[in-house]
Amino acid sequence: MSTERGTRAWIEVQAAAVRRNLRRVGEALGEGHVLIPMVKADGYGLGLERVVRALEPAEPWGYGVATVEEGRRIRALGIESPVLVVSPLPPGSYAPAVEEELTVSLSDFTGLRRLEEEAGALGMRASFHVEVDTGMGRAGFDWRESPQWGPVVAAAHDRQLRWTGCFTHLHSADLSDPSSMRVQWDRFQDALRALQLPGEDFLIHVPNSAGALRGTGTFPFRGARPGIFLYGGSAGEGLPAPEPVASLRARVVFLKDAPPGTTLGYGATYASLGWERWATLAVGYGDGLPRALGNRGSVLLKGKRVPVVGRVSMDLTVVNISSLDGVEVGDVATLLGEEGGERITVDEVAELAGTISYEILTGLTSRLPRVWLDDGGD
Ligand SMILES: *Cc1c(COP(=O)(O)O)cnc(C)c1O
Repeated sequence: MSTERGTRAWIEVQAAAVRRNLRRVGEALGEGHVLIPMVKADGYGLGLERVVRALEPAEPWGYGVATVEEGRRIRALGIESPVLVVSPLPPGSYAPAVEEELTVSLSDFTGLRRLEEEAGALGMRASFHVEVDTGMGRAGFDWRESPQWGPVVAAAHDRQLRWTGCFTHLHSADLSDPSSMRVQWDRFQDALRALQLPGEDFLIHVPNSAGALRGTGTFPFRGARPGIFLYGGSAGEGLPAPEPVASLRARVVFLKDAPPGTTLGYGATYASLGWERWATLAVGYGDGLPRALGNRGSVLLKGKRVPVVGRVSMDLTVVNISSLDGVEVGDVATLLGEEGGERITVDEVAELAGTISYEILTGLTSRLPRVWLDDGGD
């Protein structure tokens, strides 16, 4: 499982694992639910087109993106199922959204008017979902004001537009305490009660990965929008672990026997304690490896954990391999993922870096080739 010896560092992605993780979300929700896998930010950094191709056999209801350009890339694959842009659009993006037949999420009257105008100008009927803000605050019509905006939105359905869905977004479903989720669900339900929803082909969708894996409770949504779990990130406290998806590998490009007191890296933040053997890996923060792993992180080499020493630099990272035998230039180290029964999860790296798995995955830069593997499984 390696790429050409000329490749310095790369990401291996297991397509079937993405698919299986989606199916597990579907199983947690049970019969009668539909899935809108979120493939925004280039499929959480792994490659939007490949993620969509990996998921197509699972026949999701549609896909969720953050931008019109991401939606266009899905359409370019020949996908005809709904593509929902979940973020509010900048003013110039409504026309291309309509042309690509994307479903726009509306958060205010300004967006509603723009969408109606652009659809009218193009002579097309555009679809939209309404986002209801129940506590996220960053987008959506306020749940308390549904009696005011509800009739205006409903009236638009009869003209140039088709109102095909309604959703809200949970802010703390990753925490095991369900109280904030209940509050948001109650608010959403209050809003829904005040609305005249168009009848058929209307989708109400609520949970992200965490909310979906915590189960449906008594709340009447049909759709879920899972993201991080599909890509191998933990969805939250007390939830089952996903199947790992991405591995970051890098080659050893230099070996050094360091006499006692040899300094290492920018700032010389490390010096060898006695005689040490160091291996320089061809990966750094320019690839998205968090700089915070300097003197803190670890790496798998020859199936064993070895510590990162000194600061991570843009292109190179050094590990202390004094405990290992037989390491050679050209050997492959694993910075994220599995090797020889050991595993470094994206959540472990995120924790060390003081961030979340989402930021680690979406921060992997384009310098790393994405090498997609598919075991053909469901
Ligand atoms: C990103 C996003 C999701 C997916 O969330 P995960 O925590 O990655 O499962 C769902 N809904 C909206 C609106 C989002 O922006």
